[in-house]
Amino acid sequence: MSLQGKTAVITGSNSGIGLGVAREMARAGASVVLNSFTDRDEDHALAASIAEEFGVVARYIKADMSKGDECRQLITDAGGCDILINNAGIQHVAPIDEFPADKWDAIIAINMNSAFHTMAAALPVMRERGWGRVVNIASAHGLTASPYKAAYVAAKHGVVGMTKTVALETAQEPITCNAICPGYVLTPLVEAQIPDTMKEYDMSREEVIKNVMLKRQPSKEFATVEQMGGTAVFLCSDAAAQITGTTISIDGGWTAL
Ligand code: NAD
Repeated sequence: MSLQGKTAVITGSNSGIGLGVAREMARAGASVVLNSFTDRDEDHALAASIAEEFGVVARYIKADMSKGDECRQLITDAGGCDILINNAGIQHVAPIDEFPADKWDAIIAINMNSAFHTMAAALPVMRERGWGRVVNIASAHGLTASPYKAAYVAAKHGVVGMTKTVALETAQEPITCNAICPGYVLTPLVEAQIPDTMKEYDMSREEVIKNVMLKRQPSKEFATVEQMGGTAVFLCSDAAAQITGTTISIDGGWTAL
């Protein structure tokens, strides 16, 4: 599978799944644009290390995915966008009547609205170049719900709905739009949920992992960032040219239950 000559823009990619996807895109030969809201030396060093390891062009561009204009500017600054991976995301866990309104707004903005803005900016670029792939990193929570995750579940269901809509709008063009729905992947985002969940359920770390997180993941294993990246690369292949408007679950059987 070669993605040589393609430019992939991956939002929220200085960590976790986004970084894993960026690495697999680079391994397949794509130029990659990494992104987050920070502008640290280590962000740029990450891009430099990917460029060196895989022999591709790799850049880091700061843009805050909670701000619509910065989402759109990221696509402009990328100077080309054949592959768009909407991955930036945050989480907050609380019962709905205690859910802080600012957390609700931030989750909806970063996890859902950013995909609207980047897709709106990227589709004309893809049309001009005559080829495009959009892969939205949704979640098992785009298809099912869990208590205390109202904003996240709402945003991820929104992303799945938006994915279907964009697929229909591009159905007769050489552009596809799909969503990957991961179950639990052990990344910094998931690590950060462990202390709150330990408090919520009065459990140890091991009990939270086994009895709460992986309770709904029948394989009893975390999925990996490499599996996310490999699936994203597959969705960019010719074999996937007629796969559009759908979700691919990488959840160890979660949504089969
Ligand atoms: P992570 O915390 O490791 O990575 C999140 C990324 O988003 C980071 O690079 C962070 O810098 C970036 N980000 C956060 N706020 C941003 C902002 N305002 N602007 C730009 N970038 C921003 O988490 P992760 O687990 O790798 O999550 C990545 C995506 O995968 C998220 O959308 C998440 O909802 C989804 N997901 C994760 C899991 C899992 O189990 N880890 C499961 C299902 C879905």
